[in-house]
Amino acid sequence: MKKVVGGLTVAALLVTACGDENGNEEETVTEDDTYEETTDNEESEGAEGQGGDEDEDLADDDQDLHDETDEEEELEEESETEVTHQMASDHTVQPLDGNNSEQVVLLTIDDAPADHGLEMAQTLAELDAGAIFFVNGHFLQSEDAKDQLRGIHELGFEIGNHTMNHPNMSHLTEEEQYAEIIELNDLVEEIIGERPRFYRAPFGVNTDYSKQLIEEEGMQWMNWTYGYDYEADYMEADPLAEIMVETELLRNGANLLMHDRSFTSEALEDIVNGLREKGYEPIDPEKIE
Ligand SMILES: [Zn+2]
Repeated sequence: MKKVVGGLTVAALLVTACGDENGNEEETVTEDDTYEETTDNEESEGAEGQGGDEDEDLADDDQDLHDETDEEEELEEESETEVTHQMASDHTVQPLDGNNSEQVVLLTIDDAPADHGLEMAQTLAELDAGAIFFVNGHFLQSEDAKDQLRGIHELGFEIGNHTMNHPNMSHLTEEEQYAEIIELNDLVEEIIGERPRFYRAPFGVNTDYSKQLIEEEGMQWMNWTYGYDYEADYMEADPLAEIMVETELLRNGANLLMHDRSFTSEALEDIVNGLREKGYEPIDPEKIE
């Protein structure tokens, strides 16, 4: 535990690189953009062949990695939570049986583990609220940072892939995009023994190639349905906690974007309690197919 606490200071120095730039750029991904992405997703499924040949060798290498982990996954199957939901193309979570009456939301924490990731995981664990922590490779370079990731994982949280360096993937070659995603999968597996199942693109920018790669890797990509902690008006705990619960975008299955930041960490307990008062339970990501 001492080691883990030490990691908080080191990570605090790292966060500044991504924090502000991130917020400003992500702000340009408005809700409309999110919905456009959804449409793009459907269109791109027809165009998946593009560039596929070039990457076949790389994909084969990966297949080998998956084979190696199969045994491990089988051993864990006994303790698995029942799968009740799936990701929908509009980035919401929806019940598999179609008439599940429980109202849920999906909590996601991006740009982790920076200075507050472990603290946020501890808050959520105390509240018994599930979440996905979407991590970046540039935050996972020191031993202390790796300990933080282990801590978050050991508290029971899903670890998602948010790329090695948080680039805009549309500015990269296919080879570079491959490295951004696969190197992080490898790194996460090295640290916690499991490869991420979920992927979220920096700034919500998904390319045809990255979508194809994610599918080949047996992963799922998602954007989000709403988030506010990157908007200037909500970079304080109280207004953030209020808008996250009072927004008209709150609905069954909503996918809530938050970040590893001080004010979000401070607002987290109020957000979870507020969501529950409105009748929405943060879903355990293990329940998502
Ligand atoms: Zn991000």
